[in-house]
Amino acid sequence: EYLGVDVGGTLSKIVYRLEGEWRYKKVPTTRLEDVDQWIQGRFHNPVIHITGGKAGLFTQKSVFPVKKINEFEATCEGVRHLLEENGQYGEAGSRFMVTNVGTGTSIHVVEGDSYERIGGSGMGGGTLLGLSYLLTGEDNYDTILTLGKQGNGASLNVTVRDIYSHENPPISGDLTASNFGNVSNMKEQSFSQEDYIAAVVRMIGETITTMSVQAAERLKTDTVVYIGSTFSQHDTLRDIVQGYTELRGKKALFLDHGEYSGAIGAFLNK
Ligand code: ATP
Ligand code: MG
Repeated sequence: EYLGVDVGGTLSKIVYRLEGEWRYKKVPTTRLEDVDQWIQGRFHNPVIHITGGKAGLFTQKSVFPVKKINEFEATCEGVRHLLEENGQYGEAGSRFMVTNVGTGTSIHVVEGDSYERIGGSGMGGGTLLGLSYLLTGEDNYDTILTLGKQGNGASLNVTVRDIYSHENPPISGDLTASNFGNVSNMKEQSFSQEDYIAAVVRMIGETITTMSVQAAERLKTDTVVYIGSTFSQHDTLRDIVQGYTELRGKKALFLDHGEYSGAIGAFLNK
């Protein structure tokens, strides 16, 4: 009985196989003891393949044998596997970027069997939670998602068109020149909590897209595969990232269950 577990900074992801299919489970990493309990309740002799930044913490506490696997290796293995399983491998091409938006963001390049982490950013899912809390006092993830979807933060930002107001801009006028940069609008209009969160979502989406597209350009690939729990159930973030990636001339792919890539890669590591 094998299990793949990815103990991330925010969420722990568990995968295993049952009746020829993947089974998925997510638990907040703050409740890591629940993961061990949950496993004890279902498996008798599990072999746990573990990865993620907090794998060490789990290893200390687990009653079962564990094998530790490098997080970046596991993530890229998992992405490759999911692409194949979903029939999207052809779409991704022989070389592609993987942008993992977890608590923080990591960017990798995958080519054939090789992979490399080429960068990252502190702008990630944790930023969404933290800035939303600071701006609105809300700390429930589902509420933050719902509020953000109802808002429109566009007029908190300055676009390239706003700056080049009297001539044709040298780059697309739709691009954001400055996230949260429109102080004059802020003074004239009032904005709702929904608008604040929507603007945070847009800032995060645009920033990780910009980093990913620049990395793709440098490494001469056309495709960015976006994964991480920050995208799960978050249609507006996906739309922003997809639209912005295409505006910058690249292709965006989202993977079903992409947030389980690390756990799947760990599971598969023999
Ligand atoms: P890292 O890889 O940086 O160590 P992680 O693996 O825990 O972190 P993910 O699980 O990929 O990261 O994503 C975490 C993010 O997903 C959160 O910051 C939040 O924005 C979002 N998220 C999605 N669902 C939830 C949830 N139920 N509770 C909290 N955050 C959630
Ligand atoms: Mg992670």
